[in-house]
Amino acid sequence: STPGGTRSREEKIVVTVRLRPLNKREQLAKDQLAWECVDDYTIVYKPPSQERVTQPASFTFDRVFGPSSLTESVYEEGVKNVALSALMGINATIFAYGQTSSGKTYTMRGITEKAVHDIYKHIMNTPERDFTIKISGLEIYNENVRDLLNSESGRNLKLLDDPEKGTVVEKLVEEKANDDQHLRHLISICEAQRQVGETALNDTSSRSHQIIRLTIESTLRENSDCVRSFVASLNFVDLAGSERASQTHADGARLREGCHINLSLMTLTTVIRKLSVGKRSGHIPYRDSKLTRILQHSLGGNARTAIICTLSPALTHVDQSRNTLYFATRAK
Ligand code: ADP
Ligand code: MG
Repeated sequence: STPGGTRSREEKIVVTVRLRPLNKREQLAKDQLAWECVDDYTIVYKPPSQERVTQPASFTFDRVFGPSSLTESVYEEGVKNVALSALMGINATIFAYGQTSSGKTYTMRGITEKAVHDIYKHIMNTPERDFTIKISGLEIYNENVRDLLNSESGRNLKLLDDPEKGTVVEKLVEEKANDDQHLRHLISICEAQRQVGETALNDTSSRSHQIIRLTIESTLRENSDCVRSFVASLNFVDLAGSERASQTHADGARLREGCHINLSLMTLTTVIRKLSVGKRSGHIPYRDSKLTRILQHSLGGNARTAIICTLSPALTHVDQSRNTLYFATRAK
């Protein structure tokens, strides 16, 4: 059986935008909607007053999802094909990109859950193959790599260059999942670990990247003569808040904070921009950050990528939303 949804185009990078609803705090503060999804592909800047719109007001993507859309649709139409290609031996990466509080974690958790469901459904429907699923989880905070499945000693992990596997994270725990329940349990451990850091270090999640990596292997059960093996990584990446990538915010306060610009996020945006313009664009600076080194083999080449750009609809966040849409436009 061939996994996949309705999309037939095989783009390497699928870029979608998800606009969340106004939250309680924004409603109480009488914040207003600044954006509208006018059809399935177009998001438009629509400020409530008659202010003159001088900057680009309309942006088009592979798909846009409005405030009432379900994570289910975001998954089905923006992610599924990319994620399930990992069952066929093609590396895949799903990113959530957007400013802090725009909905990255909310979206990524739902998507991971739905992908796990589909992976095990595919395994059930493919009795002729034996599957092995392994999981690892890590966080990159200030270019330090932390193991989310090993809270004891999994800190400041080194990256090593393996001649066969490429960049590997030294001592990173990789657990074999026995079944879907076990896999969900291991994912929840990673998510809980990230939150532990968050309380201790005061909003780490806005500055850190989380990668949950599934390694999916399968071999044909019978006919030892024609054993065809597949192995691929499927990465779920919940990025640091995109405000960390914008130099306009590297003001005095941020500089004193000591993490005004997030190297991994800056490098990722450069890598994605270069990949989106095609192969002949020259050097791709994968080696300039931990995030891009770790993801190198799951970005570019034959790998497939889905980027979900999450957006706050609020008028007060319009500058950050616009920055996110510019990033999304360059990634297409
Ligand atoms: P981020 O990870 O980008 O900082 P979160 O995912 O934590 O943002 O979302 C911020 C808040 O908004 C959370 O309370 C979350 O539950 C809520 N939220 C985000 N996206 C949606 C959505 N599409 N629908 C409803 N609530 C959402
Ligand atoms: Mg988050």
